[in-house]
Amino acid sequence: MPAAPTTPNESKRLAALRSYNILDTATEEDFDELTELASAICSTPIALISFVDKDRQWFKSRHGLDVSETDRALSFCAHAINSPTEILEVENAKEDKRFMDNVLVTGPMDITFYAGVPLVDVSGAALGSLCVIDSVQHKLNTIQRKALKTLARQVIDKLELRRKVVELDNTRTRIQRLNELLVAKEREATQIIEHTPTAMALHIGEDMEIRFANKMMLGAWGKDERVFGMNFKDALPELDKLDFPTTMRQVYRKGIHYEQKEAHMLYMHYGKLKEFYYNYAFTPLKLSDGSVWGVLNTAVDVTDIVKSRIAVERAEEQLRLAVQSAQLGTWSINADTYEFDASERTKELFGFLPDEVITYEAAVNQITEEYRDKVKKTVEAAIKENRGFDMEYAITGLHNGKLRWVRATGKLYSSGDGKAAQFSGTLSDITERKQDEQRKNDFIGMVSHELKTPLTSMKGYLQIIGQRANKLGDVPIADFTKKTQRQADKMQALVTGFLDVARITEGKIHLNNDVFDINDVMRAAEDELRVNCKGAHITFRLCDSLLINGDKDKMEQVLINFINNAIKYSADEPEVTITCSKDGDNALVIVSDRGIGIPAADIPYIFDRFYRVENTHVKMISGFGIGLYSCKEIIEHHGGTIGVKSEPGKGSDFWFSVPLSK
Ligand code: ADP
Repeated sequence: MPAAPTTPNESKRLAALRSYNILDTATEEDFDELTELASAICSTPIALISFVDKDRQWFKSRHGLDVSETDRALSFCAHAINSPTEILEVENAKEDKRFMDNVLVTGPMDITFYAGVPLVDVSGAALGSLCVIDSVQHKLNTIQRKALKTLARQVIDKLELRRKVVELDNTRTRIQRLNELLVAKEREATQIIEHTPTAMALHIGEDMEIRFANKMMLGAWGKDERVFGMNFKDALPELDKLDFPTTMRQVYRKGIHYEQKEAHMLYMHYGKLKEFYYNYAFTPLKLSDGSVWGVLNTAVDVTDIVKSRIAVERAEEQLRLAVQSAQLGTWSINADTYEFDASERTKELFGFLPDEVITYEAAVNQITEEYRDKVKKTVEAAIKENRGFDMEYAITGLHNGKLRWVRATGKLYSSGDGKAAQFSGTLSDITERKQDEQRKNDFIGMVSHELKTPLTSMKGYLQIIGQRANKLGDVPIADFTKKTQRQADKMQALVTGFLDVARITEGKIHLNNDVFDINDVMRAAEDELRVNCKGAHITFRLCDSLLINGDKDKMEQVLINFINNAIKYSADEPEVTITCSKDGDNALVIVSDRGIGIPAADIPYIFDRFYRVENTHVKMISGFGIGLYSCKEIIEHHGGTIGVKSEPGKGSDFWFSVPLSK
């Protein structure tokens, strides 16, 4: 038996069939009613709604048949659809050449009669057929044919309806999904608006009704949600003076964006008059035709930023005035590149013209030779080790050749944002002070020098008088002479001290270079003091031999100075202990007393020239504040260090440490 030829527009037909999504769906009463009716009208036991798929025919409804589908090659309907406008009626298939050997005819299904009306949809595609089948021969009458055609149309109508319902369902599902999406988006948008650090409000209409405001805006206004729906003016009388509604109305009418930066506002906020700075904007919200439907008010509170900037500007101005009135120069060195930035005053101090470029090297070049290297090294070390910088040095002016003394102080400022740190500071002219010091020094040096010779001859005469008085047995004169001699010794010590200071300041300190044991210095001091300090308890604790390189007399001078001070600044019965020890590669000498001690605030200055602690105790003890200064210079000239640990009322430990001889 030949299979029905495929329809000429098969792919289109199949696409149309698929568009109904009907294949392999469950049975539906609507369709079953139609097959039942067709079977009844045509008096056949079987009626089917059959759809012709690519390789099979599938029955949406099958009245009187158990099979749900058959091969397309066996299909009667596949024949029927080739003539979409006609009924295919086979009165006796057993005698019809087209079907006589069809297994549906010869087999257990035993088809004899077949009549099928093609199911043609609105697009003209023949999807299948509504057919009636019997195992006995039939011939349909006109009424039956007409009824079968009507029922076939009903099938198509139901199919269309079914598709519409499915489409409708899909559309409804889509709309529902869109709605959910819309609700989610709205929720997201509301959350974003609520949590944004920008205050936002939406105003509608000429009176700028408040339709919505986020928490930030309500906070800025000092209001709550009760203002929603109110006119701006009625809701916010506190802002009347700022006249926002007028501006907003302009934006509303003209459709032009308006904004203000750092606008200053003063208004009552939660019952208190407060000052604010705001960056705010009014943006017209437009429909697609360009008409404005509302105004969006956004505002950012920049009060803290503006106020701190104003404070910084004010501080900068004050600093500028202070720097100006103190005639300070300012400078800054890039810690990486050594790029140098100098104020006009700094340039002036270095002898540059105000509009001249001054580099770090050029500035260093103007420092006198004596200080140049020291300044460079100190600057470099201060930058590297993040230390403070405080130096006095002399400069020869570039153009004027003028010699000036300056004091430079500086500090490393790290930027903290990955940029290079800046080593910045000030420069002050100390020429006058230096000249004063120089004059003072010259004077001290000259006077001391002038006193030295008469004092020496005076001491010589006193010695002779003393010897004579002893010889004559004149005890009172011998005694007076001794006392006078002691006073002359004190005077000589003072004069020597002043001469030392003058020499040190001039840089003329001279040191012998011998190798000696530190214990010898201790012994010499002990001998000297045994004669002069009878009332004090002085304990010397010698150590193993420690050889050092330098000037033994000067070292002894330092030690005696420490011990004399320990006695001087102690109560009636001074207790002084002197120890020496090895401390790494150094010899360490400590002079401990249980005297008045030194306040912490004075300790950093104690080794400065002419420095004395200012208190009633010290005032009663004579001195010039030059002993420790000389000691420091002597120790440092030996490459050593000097210091003190002290507590007021408990005593002091003065120490020095000098390198051991190699
Ligand atoms: P002078 O003793 O002549 O004042 P110095 O340079 O020797 O000068 O000492 C400076 C200052 O240090 C003293 O004026 C005193 O205030 C303080 N000082 C020094 N040694 C001691 C000490 N052992 N105990 C307490 N204060 C001391």
